[in-house]
Amino acid sequence: MPDVQLYEITVSPNDWNRYQIEGEHPLSLPPVHCDACKAIWKGRGEAYPGTTSDVIPPDASQPLSVEKLQELRFLLGALVPPGAPLYPGAEFGEFRGRARGRFFDFAWHESWTMFLQLDALRRLRDFGVSIPRVAPLHLTPKGSTKVPELVEPVAIPLFELAREGLKDPDVLPCEKCGRVASGFRAFLAPSGAVLPEGVDLCRARNNPGVYIGSELLANAVESLSLTGCVMKPLASV
Ligand SMILES: [Zn+2]
Repeated sequence: MPDVQLYEITVSPNDWNRYQIEGEHPLSLPPVHCDACKAIWKGRGEAYPGTTSDVIPPDASQPLSVEKLQELRFLLGALVPPGAPLYPGAEFGEFRGRARGRFFDFAWHESWTMFLQLDALRRLRDFGVSIPRVAPLHLTPKGSTKVPELVEPVAIPLFELAREGLKDPDVLPCEKCGRVASGFRAFLAPSGAVLPEGVDLCRARNNPGVYIGSELLANAVESLSLTGCVMKPLASV
Protein backbone atom coordinates (compact mmCIF):
# COMPACT_ATOMS: atom_id res chain seq x y z
CA MET A 1 0.00 0.00 0.00
CA PRO A 2 1.43 3.44 -0.87
CA ASP A 3 2.23 5.85 1.94
CA VAL A 4 -0.51 8.24 2.99
CA GLN A 5 0.28 11.54 1.32
CA LEU A 6 0.79 14.53 3.57
CA TYR A 7 1.19 18.13 2.47
CA GLU A 8 2.85 21.35 3.47
CA ILE A 9 0.23 24.11 3.18
CA THR A 10 1.67 27.50 2.46
CA VAL A 11 1.02 30.80 0.76
CA SER A 12 1.54 31.08 -2.95
CA PRO A 13 4.39 33.56 -3.63
CA ASN A 14 2.18 35.12 -6.34
CA ASP A 15 -0.51 36.08 -3.84
CA TRP A 16 1.39 38.40 -1.51
CA ASN A 17 0.79 41.61 -3.41
CA ARG A 18 -3.00 41.26 -3.45
CA TYR A 19 -3.60 42.00 0.22
CA GLN A 20 -1.85 42.99 3.40
CA ILE A 21 -2.54 41.95 6.99
CA GLU A 22 -0.55 43.61 9.77
CA GLY A 23 -0.94 42.81 13.43
CA GLU A 24 -0.24 40.27 16.12
CA HIS A 25 -1.54 38.02 18.83
CA PRO A 26 -1.47 40.16 21.97
CA LEU A 27 0.52 37.83 24.24
CA SER A 28 3.47 35.49 23.86
CA LEU A 29 5.83 33.43 25.93
CA PRO A 30 9.23 35.15 26.17
CA PRO A 31 12.38 33.64 24.69
CA VAL A 32 14.20 31.12 26.85
CA HIS A 33 17.80 31.52 28.00
CA CYS A 34 19.26 28.06 28.42
CA ASP A 35 22.21 27.73 30.78
CA ALA A 36 23.17 24.37 29.23
CA CYS A 37 23.52 25.28 25.53
CA LYS A 38 23.84 29.03 26.25
CA ALA A 39 21.31 29.91 23.54
CA ILE A 40 18.58 32.53 23.87
CA TRP A 41 15.84 31.40 21.51
CA LYS A 42 12.16 31.24 20.72
CA GLY A 43 10.07 29.42 18.16
CA ARG A 44 7.85 30.87 15.47
CA GLY A 45 4.31 30.00 14.45
CA GLU A 46 2.88 28.25 17.50
CA ALA A 47 -0.28 30.16 18.46
CA TYR A 48 -3.41 29.63 20.57
CA PRO A 49 -5.66 32.52 19.60
CA GLY A 50 -8.51 31.16 21.71
CA THR A 51 -6.43 31.13 24.90
CA THR A 52 -5.28 33.88 27.21
CA SER A 53 -4.09 33.76 30.80
CA ASP A 54 -2.84 36.07 33.51
CA VAL A 55 0.20 33.85 34.02
CA ILE A 56 1.68 34.87 30.63
CA PRO A 57 4.19 37.67 31.30
CA PRO A 58 2.90 40.93 29.75
CA ASP A 59 6.45 41.83 28.75
CA ALA A 60 7.74 39.14 26.39
CA SER A 61 11.11 40.79 25.88
CA GLN A 62 12.80 39.45 29.03
CA PRO A 63 14.18 35.91 28.49
CA LEU A 64 13.13 33.22 30.97
CA SER A 65 15.13 30.40 32.49
CA VAL A 66 14.22 26.89 31.36
CA GLU A 67 12.86 26.27 34.88
CA LYS A 68 10.55 29.30 34.71
CA LEU A 69 9.37 28.24 31.25
CA GLN A 70 8.54 24.77 32.61
CA GLU A 71 6.53 26.39 35.39
CA LEU A 72 4.52 28.42 32.84
CA ARG A 73 3.99 25.31 30.72
CA PHE A 74 2.59 23.53 33.73
CA LEU A 75 0.21 26.41 34.49
CA LEU A 76 -0.89 26.83 30.86
CA GLY A 77 -1.10 23.13 30.03
CA ALA A 78 -4.75 22.79 31.00
CA LEU A 79 -5.76 25.85 28.93
CA VAL A 80 -4.34 24.78 25.56
CA PRO A 81 -5.32 21.82 23.38
CA PRO A 82 -3.79 18.42 24.18
CA GLY A 83 -0.34 17.94 22.67
CA ALA A 84 0.53 21.66 22.60
CA PRO A 85 4.30 21.91 23.14
CA LEU A 86 4.25 25.53 24.41
CA TYR A 87 7.63 26.51 23.04
CA PRO A 88 9.16 29.86 23.99
CA GLY A 89 7.59 32.42 21.67
CA ALA A 90 4.20 30.63 21.58
CA GLU A 91 1.49 33.26 21.05
CA PHE A 92 -1.90 33.71 22.70
CA GLY A 93 -5.06 35.72 22.28
CA GLU A 94 -7.14 36.73 19.27
CA PHE A 95 -5.18 38.31 16.41
CA ARG A 96 -5.58 42.09 16.16
CA GLY A 97 -4.43 44.37 13.42
CA ARG A 98 -5.15 46.14 10.17
CA ALA A 99 -5.81 44.81 6.71
CA ARG A 100 -6.40 45.91 3.17
CA GLY A 101 -6.64 44.45 -0.29
CA ARG A 102 -8.56 41.69 -2.02
CA PHE A 103 -8.66 38.51 -0.01
CA PHE A 104 -8.52 34.90 -1.08
CA ASP A 105 -10.24 31.99 0.72
CA PHE A 106 -6.98 31.50 2.62
CA ALA A 107 -5.22 34.65 3.85
CA TRP A 108 -1.86 34.83 5.57
CA HIS A 109 0.06 36.98 8.00
CA GLU A 110 3.64 36.15 7.11
CA SER A 111 3.91 32.51 6.06
CA TRP A 112 3.34 31.13 9.55
CA THR A 113 -0.15 32.43 10.40
CA MET A 114 -3.08 31.19 8.33
CA PHE A 115 -6.55 32.67 8.26
CA LEU A 116 -9.68 31.44 6.52
CA GLN A 117 -12.71 33.24 5.23
CA LEU A 118 -15.78 32.04 7.12
CA ASP A 119 -17.39 30.68 3.97
CA ALA A 120 -14.26 28.68 3.12
CA LEU A 121 -14.24 27.24 6.64
CA ARG A 122 -17.88 26.18 6.25
CA ARG A 123 -17.19 24.54 2.88
CA LEU A 124 -14.16 22.67 4.22
CA ARG A 125 -16.16 21.40 7.17
CA ASP A 126 -19.03 20.37 4.87
CA PHE A 127 -16.47 18.40 2.86
CA GLY A 128 -15.58 16.50 6.05
CA VAL A 129 -12.32 18.26 6.90
CA SER A 130 -11.73 18.43 10.64
CA ILE A 131 -10.99 21.99 11.79
CA PRO A 132 -12.39 21.84 15.30
CA ARG A 133 -11.08 25.08 16.77
CA VAL A 134 -11.08 28.53 15.23
CA ALA A 135 -10.79 32.00 16.74
CA PRO A 136 -12.11 35.30 15.41
CA LEU A 137 -9.85 38.13 14.24
CA HIS A 138 -10.11 41.83 15.00
CA LEU A 139 -9.03 43.64 11.84
CA THR A 140 -9.49 47.31 11.15
CA PRO A 141 -9.73 48.10 7.42
CA LYS A 142 -6.95 50.26 6.05
CA GLY A 143 -8.30 52.73 3.56
CA SER A 144 -11.61 52.01 1.87
CA THR A 145 -11.18 48.22 1.68
CA LYS A 146 -13.92 46.01 3.01
CA VAL A 147 -12.29 43.22 5.00
CA PRO A 148 -14.15 39.90 4.89
CA GLU A 149 -14.83 37.99 8.09
CA LEU A 150 -11.77 35.85 8.76
CA VAL A 151 -11.05 33.23 11.39
CA GLU A 152 -7.80 31.66 12.53
CA PRO A 153 -7.77 27.87 12.67
CA VAL A 154 -5.93 26.57 15.72
CA ALA A 155 -3.21 24.29 14.36
CA ILE A 156 -1.35 22.38 17.06
CA PRO A 157 2.28 21.37 16.42
CA LEU A 158 1.70 17.61 16.34
CA PHE A 159 3.65 16.31 13.36
CA GLU A 160 7.36 15.52 13.49
CA LEU A 161 9.18 16.26 10.24
CA ALA A 162 11.89 13.72 9.42
CA ARG A 163 15.31 14.55 10.86
CA GLU A 164 16.81 13.59 7.50
CA GLY A 165 15.49 16.93 6.22
CA LEU A 166 17.71 18.89 8.65
CA LYS A 167 20.73 20.66 7.23
CA ASP A 168 22.73 18.77 9.82
CA PRO A 169 20.79 15.58 10.73
CA ASP A 170 23.49 14.52 13.21
CA VAL A 171 22.97 17.48 15.55
CA LEU A 172 21.14 16.40 18.71
CA PRO A 173 18.59 18.52 20.58
CA CYS A 174 19.82 20.26 23.74
CA GLU A 175 18.91 17.95 26.60
CA LYS A 176 17.78 20.81 28.75
CA CYS A 177 15.81 23.17 26.48
CA GLY A 178 15.17 20.98 23.42
CA ARG A 179 16.67 23.41 20.93
CA VAL A 180 17.95 21.85 17.71
CA ALA A 181 20.80 23.91 16.33
CA SER A 182 20.04 23.22 12.68
CA GLY A 183 17.54 24.50 10.16
CA PHE A 184 15.81 22.38 7.53
CA ARG A 185 17.03 21.97 3.97
CA ALA A 186 13.79 20.13 3.05
CA PHE A 187 10.52 19.19 4.71
CA LEU A 188 10.25 15.39 4.59
CA ALA A 189 7.80 12.96 6.17
CA PRO A 190 9.09 9.90 8.01
CA SER A 191 8.20 6.77 6.06
CA GLY A 192 4.65 5.64 6.85
CA ALA A 193 3.92 8.77 8.90
CA VAL A 194 0.28 9.69 9.39
CA LEU A 195 -1.46 12.50 11.21
CA PRO A 196 -3.17 11.66 14.49
CA GLU A 197 -6.73 10.31 14.17
CA GLY A 198 -9.19 13.05 13.25
CA VAL A 199 -6.51 15.68 12.49
CA ASP A 200 -6.50 17.25 9.02
CA LEU A 201 -4.53 20.41 9.83
CA CYS A 202 -1.65 20.86 12.25
CA ARG A 203 1.83 22.31 12.46
CA ALA A 204 5.23 20.66 12.41
CA ARG A 205 6.32 20.01 15.98
CA ASN A 206 9.97 20.55 15.12
CA ASN A 207 9.23 23.60 12.94
CA PRO A 208 5.90 25.14 14.03
CA GLY A 209 5.99 27.82 11.34
CA VAL A 210 5.12 25.05 8.87
CA TYR A 211 1.51 23.91 8.41
CA ILE A 212 0.87 20.26 7.61
CA GLY A 213 -2.33 19.06 5.99
CA SER A 214 -3.94 15.70 5.30
CA GLU A 215 -4.82 14.23 1.94
CA LEU A 216 -8.47 15.00 2.72
CA LEU A 217 -7.64 18.67 3.18
CA ALA A 218 -5.68 18.72 -0.08
CA ASN A 219 -8.57 17.04 -1.89
CA ALA A 220 -11.01 19.52 -0.40
CA VAL A 221 -8.93 22.54 -1.41
CA GLU A 222 -8.71 21.21 -4.96
CA SER A 223 -12.33 20.04 -5.29
CA LEU A 224 -13.73 23.25 -3.83
CA SER A 225 -11.27 25.38 -5.88
CA LEU A 226 -10.27 27.26 -2.74
CA THR A 227 -7.79 30.06 -3.39
CA GLY A 228 -4.87 31.57 -1.52
CA CYS A 229 -2.77 28.53 -0.63
CA VAL A 230 -0.60 25.90 -2.25
CA MET A 231 -0.41 22.30 -1.09
CA LYS A 232 3.07 20.84 -1.53
CA PRO A 233 3.26 17.04 -1.16
CA LEU A 234 5.85 16.00 1.44
CA ALA A 235 8.39 13.55 0.09
CA SER A 236 8.91 10.52 2.32
CA VAL A 237 12.24 9.46 3.72
ZN1 LIG B 1 19.57 24.43 25.69
